[in-house]
Amino acid sequence: MPRPISALIDLPAMRRNLAHARRHARDRFVWAVVKANAYGHGLERATRAFAEADGLALLDLDEAQRARDAGWSRPILLLEGCFEPRDLEVVSALKVTPVVHNTEQIEMLERARLPVPIDVYLKFNTGMNRLGFDARNADGARLAYERMKASTSVAQLTLMIHFANADRAAGVSGPAEAAEQLDVLQAVAGHWPEPRSLANSAALFLRPEVKGDSVRPGIALYGAATDESHTAAQLGVEPAMTLKSRLIAVQTLKPGEAVGYGSRFAASRSMRIGVVACGYADGYPRNAPDGTPVIADGVRVSIAGRVSMDMLTVDLTSAPRAAVGSDVELWGKNLPIDEVANLCGTVGYELMCALAQRLPVTEIN
Ligand SMILES: *Cc1c(COP(=O)(O)O)cnc(C)c1O
Repeated sequence: MPRPISALIDLPAMRRNLAHARRHARDRFVWAVVKANAYGHGLERATRAFAEADGLALLDLDEAQRARDAGWSRPILLLEGCFEPRDLEVVSALKVTPVVHNTEQIEMLERARLPVPIDVYLKFNTGMNRLGFDARNADGARLAYERMKASTSVAQLTLMIHFANADRAAGVSGPAEAAEQLDVLQAVAGHWPEPRSLANSAALFLRPEVKGDSVRPGIALYGAATDESHTAAQLGVEPAMTLKSRLIAVQTLKPGEAVGYGSRFAASRSMRIGVVACGYADGYPRNAPDGTPVIADGVRVSIAGRVSMDMLTVDLTSAPRAAVGSDVELWGKNLPIDEVANLCGTVGYELMCALAQRLPVTEIN
């Protein structure tokens, strides 16, 4: 028998999350972001769950090929564009819409001999300072724009930005406010007629003032929060991934005895410890502190002792009926992934993406 751990992926939940995103998007074009193997949910699965999306956004041409192989015939946005000139041949063959964010990519397009012109997203840096032509340098930004307009390789051009702080809590301020980023784009591109692609999940769900013509939600479609100051429930989305396992042993500790590597957790009284078949090699964060919640036998219990490669241990005091074979949920339907992530100093995004390849996946269809 295989280890009793698996990830359960709920496709109808993904479908409902997309429908919810679409209500926020109103008449805007909705790219479902499926990079990183659909945030760990499986690209082919996401291609089915997001059949109602207008397009898929990802950043690896292998993933674009997989989406086409899975029957996806609508647009595909390549979020980091091409890495080398021959990528353009694949982009053209797969009818992918590349982002162009640097001069090297403009040159690739200018030199290319494409059978038909392709749609392109021209990315401007308005304060995130990762990718894009610096929109605060008006001459440089205009030059990039004009070169793309003049290129015979380009069909429809769209202007794109990415927010650094669309999820910033109300009342908190700092650099690169979403409104500032919009102003930076407006200052240089205010009169350019091309459509705009602006919003990620945070801007789409939390900032109705951000408009634009296409939106790019990712995390919300998988039912997790955009940041620590919100919950998935507040956004109105449901978790799509549940990480499940079972208890494979129960130990009784005497007062003063400890459990696991480094003996991080020591019993102050006689107590039962459950051993769960789930460890960091499954994608569970090794730095989960004592107290991180886990559901065992339907009851909230907490991690006691260091997470090992294939096991973790929980204090069963509040779950007296839990025994070998009892069901365990590490995150998902009954325990928000963000709650676990935040206690581990990270975000739901990272836990989803880190789900190990070795895990069997079951689907709700
Ligand atoms: C990942 C990504 C998104 C989606 O972001 P979420 O926070 O998951 O909604 C949108 N746009 C770009 C450019 C991205 O890289």
